[in-house]
Amino acid sequence: MLLDIHRQLIDNGQGQVADYIPALASVDPSHFGLAIVATEGDIHSCGDADVPFTIQSVSKPFTLALVLEQFGEETYERVGTEPSGEAFNSIHLTADGKPFNPMINAGAIAMCGLMHDRYGDEAFDEIRRGYDRFAGSELGFDEDVYQSEISTAHSNRAIAHLMCHGNILSENVDGIVDLYTRQCSLTATATQLATMAATLANVGTNPVTHDSILSPVTVRDVLSLMFTCGMYDYAGKWAVEVGLPAKSGVSGDVLAVVNRQIGIGLYSPPLDDHGNSVRAIKSCIRLTEELGLHAFEFSNQGSSLLSVYLR
Ligand code: GLN
Repeated sequence: MLLDIHRQLIDNGQGQVADYIPALASVDPSHFGLAIVATEGDIHSCGDADVPFTIQSVSKPFTLALVLEQFGEETYERVGTEPSGEAFNSIHLTADGKPFNPMINAGAIAMCGLMHDRYGDEAFDEIRRGYDRFAGSELGFDEDVYQSEISTAHSNRAIAHLMCHGNILSENVDGIVDLYTRQCSLTATATQLATMAATLANVGTNPVTHDSILSPVTVRDVLSLMFTCGMYDYAGKWAVEVGLPAKSGVSGDVLAVVNRQIGIGLYSPPLDDHGNSVRAIKSCIRLTEELGLHAFEFSNQGSSLLSVYLR
C-alpha cells in the first residue's frame, strides 16, 4: 500500500522547496519518506523514511501539548482557538490581542513564552525531552538551519514584540523567539514523526515504548486544534478532502493522526502555494481514500483490519 503510493508519486515534480533561508533551499527535493505507526505499535515505512529533516511547524502541536499538561486552562489566556484563514507567519492578532490559534507562528511563540517564563534557559531542554518521549527516541538538531533562521527571524520577532505590547508575552522577546526557532530546528525522520503522531492517536501513550505522556483532555484539545487549524489557509479544504487532524511544516513534513488507529509521518520538501508538501498531501489523500480513514467516513470503524492492508 505505502509502496504503491510512493511509486505513484515519486516522479511528481510539482512544488518548490522553501527558499527563505539557504539551509532549507539546499535540501534534496527528491527525498520522499512515508511511515505509519499503529496504536498496536507496529511500524510500516517506505522510501526515505530514515532521512532526518527539521520538523519546523510540526513542533507546534507538541509544544502545545506540553503547555496544556502544565498550564491547563491558563493556556487559553494566551492563545485563541479559531482558525485564522491566513498564512503561518501572519502578523494579525484577534481583537483582544491574542494569536488566533497555537498552530500558526504567533500562537506557537506565545506557547514558547509560557515555557520560557517557567523554565528560563532550561526551556529548550524541557521541550526537547518531551519531544523525545513522543518519538520514543532522540531527535537531532540542525545547527545550520537554526543559525540561518535566527539571523533572519525578523517577522517572528515583530509578532513577538506586538504580543509583548499586548501583554501576551513577557519582556524576554529574544529568548522566546530563540526558543521557538530552536524547537523548529529539531530534526526527525518520517518514522519518528509517525511515532509522535501515533502517541496522539493512542490517547497520549507512546505505543512503541508504552510511555504514558499526555492526559486524554490534552490530546483532545491538541487534535481539535490540528483538525481546524493545522494546515494553515488550506485547513478547511484539507478537512473535507482528507478529514484528519494534521500539521505541516515548511521543510516539507506532514504529520497526521487517525484517532485510536494510526500515526502518519511524511517528508517530501517541494511545497505548494499554501506551504504544504505536495507529495505528502497527495499521499494523505490516497491513503484516506483507499483505507477509508476520513474522520467522518462511514466505513471508518476504527478497525484493526487496517494493519492487514498496510502490509
Ligand atoms: N521556522 C519557520 C518559521 O517560523 C516555521 C514555519 C513553518 O514550518 N511553516 O517561519
